[in-house]
Amino acid sequence: MKVFYSDDYTAAKYDFDTTRKARAIAEDLRGHALAGLELAVPRSVTSGELCQVHDKAYVDAVRTGHPRSMAGSQGFEWDEGVWRMACATTGGVVDAALTALNDGISGTLSSGIHHARYDRGSGFCTFNGLALACAEARKRVNRVLIIDLDAHCGGGTSSLIHDMPGVYQFDISTCQFDAYDDSEHGELHIVQGAIEYLSILQRGLARLEERDGFGLALYNAGMDPYNNGPEGDAITEDVLRERDAMVFQWCRNREIPLAFTLAGGYTGYRLGLADVVRLHRITIEAAVRSTIDGRRSR
Ligand SMILES: [Zn+2]
Repeated sequence: MKVFYSDDYTAAKYDFDTTRKARAIAEDLRGHALAGLELAVPRSVTSGELCQVHDKAYVDAVRTGHPRSMAGSQGFEWDEGVWRMACATTGGVVDAALTALNDGISGTLSSGIHHARYDRGSGFCTFNGLALACAEARKRVNRVLIIDLDAHCGGGTSSLIHDMPGVYQFDISTCQFDAYDDSEHGELHIVQGAIEYLSILQRGLARLEERDGFGLALYNAGMDPYNNGPEGDAITEDVLRERDAMVFQWCRNREIPLAFTLAGGYTGYRLGLADVVRLHRITIEAAVRSTIDGRRSR
């Protein structure tokens, strides 16, 4: 299984979890290797490719740094590394999607970058990798499913897939940030605790089976739902493990190619960087297991 990573993922000077943790996860994967996993360097996307889903003036602003208000609209102070980071992380999502179409499964250590909109960044997301991956994948398959299980809503992606027939977003979040209305292109569920989280996922996946066959699933696997919910019903590490197993198994059983992105997951209250790495490894290990199980069942 190819998992995409480049040191350019961390090229922005702006220093916080989203711009740094991919390197720590890559180092952890090199130090504690998973059999069958290969780290691969993605191709950075070009301005022309980005303009399939983004405004050229915005793309130019991120490339040049001017105007600053636009170049830093995602929440970073601009430096030339922001452009390199944004093109590499977006390229990682696109390459994971296209590789999954060939190999059945792939992923990237970047996030899906789901808050970015047509003409601006948002919520530390510069370019929307999920939307661009959909645009590229639709040249080869008719229907693409986005499963967005980051704690925050994928409103940026929702705004960008409206004119992409065949793309559907299934979104479960634990907070209101970047919320959007349900439409023929997707559904958003905001949940309060672990029981609701897993049951909505289970029912949602069952309902999605009634739709025409998806040729690709993009799974935005945020770890930031961790610890959300009231005591006794909080979303624990075990709940997230169960969540990921459900998603990978659902796709594998239906032979839907799957590309995962890592999304949110933050240091802070009681969580150090090693904890965040451990949480993200849950998704990567579920992906590896899915390839092994898939081989066994053939
Ligand atoms: Zn998030």
